[in-house]
Amino acid sequence: EVTDDQPVQNEQNLRSPICCIMGHVDTGKTKLLGCIRGTNVQEGEAGGITQQIGATYFPAENIRERTKELKADAKLNVPGLLVIDTPGHESFTNLRSRGSGLCDLAILVVDIMHGLEPQTIESLNLLKMRNTDFLIALNKVDRLYGWKSCRNAPIGKAIRQQSKDVMIEFNMRLTQIITQFKEQGLNTELYYKNKEMGETYNIVPTSAISGEGVPDLLLLLVQWAQKTMIKRLTYSEEVQCTVLEVKVVEGHGTTIDVVLVNGVLHEGDQIVVCGMQGPVVTSIRALLTPHPMRELRVKGTYLHHKEIKAAQGIKIAAQVPVQWKKTETTKIPITLQHMRKK
Ligand code: GDP
Repeated sequence: EVTDDQPVQNEQNLRSPICCIMGHVDTGKTKLLGCIRGTNVQEGEAGGITQQIGATYFPAENIRERTKELKADAKLNVPGLLVIDTPGHESFTNLRSRGSGLCDLAILVVDIMHGLEPQTIESLNLLKMRNTDFLIALNKVDRLYGWKSCRNAPIGKAIRQQSKDVMIEFNMRLTQIITQFKEQGLNTELYYKNKEMGETYNIVPTSAISGEGVPDLLLLLVQWAQKTMIKRLTYSEEVQCTVLEVKVVEGHGTTIDVVLVNGVLHEGDQIVVCGMQGPVVTSIRALLTPHPMRELRVKGTYLHHKEIKAAQGIKIAAQVPVQWKKTETTKIPITLQHMRKK
């Protein structure tokens, strides 16, 4: 991996980093995702957030807008951030070992009231094994007794408004959790106190209910990615694409839901999909994404595209062998391995 002191060759040539959310059940993964997605959506498309196939896309302008209270002057060089919608999707857990990384970084969610739980440790081991960088969302801070909610505020601002008692409980729980991480061989620290980023993992306190800390989480993810993953995030002509699901959709025949990790796809491109019975050569009949406006999204209608650039969640309509069509939904964790223009 290229490190931060390497100059950015071409600032415009970075793709969006892809982020997954992991952690123990009930820590608030789904809620946090909803919170990240939900803010500003009422203000319509100004937010620019788009729901994609299996993922949500946040344009850089949206992240800048939501984090302006943090007064981060640093430039955002990536076009945005793609967050995978299904916490703990099997594609994440299975595919890295085949050399096709779906996620560039992850959010590990820990419940501040419960500390480390069995699946936290499982997730931690997966992340270590796959060498995936992550930060910790210490969620449910609003459950600290007497917490004064401070909607969607940066965590520093929210913390400054709390009483002494809340701070005592916060610090006690935080210290316990840092100790628990240490027992797992990991140094962790509140991100704004972290002097050894890279060696020491960042903790961002959050509430998925009232949104405190969510701006910090977004900004840290993007800044961390563009600081430490320049090589990985450099846009390539070589297509890297991960299949989430294969299913039959009325009016489109067999469709392959994918996350396009890098490169560009065109309508008519020939693709090779690794099926369970061996490679399948086919071509892209249609490149589909949901409509950008939530309200207009009617089930079964999609936008057609001539070409799509990474990173995005896409539905590909393509002719595939009969055996795939037998079942309504075939979950095949496979990779689109090779592509060329017809
Ligand atoms: P998941 O299993 O990790 O996806 O957890 P969910 O997102 O389904 O959340 C589990 C429960 O915790 C739900 O009842 C949520 O409403 C609640 N929850 C999640 N995040 C928070 C939070 O930040 N504060 C509070 N008070 N409750 C939360």
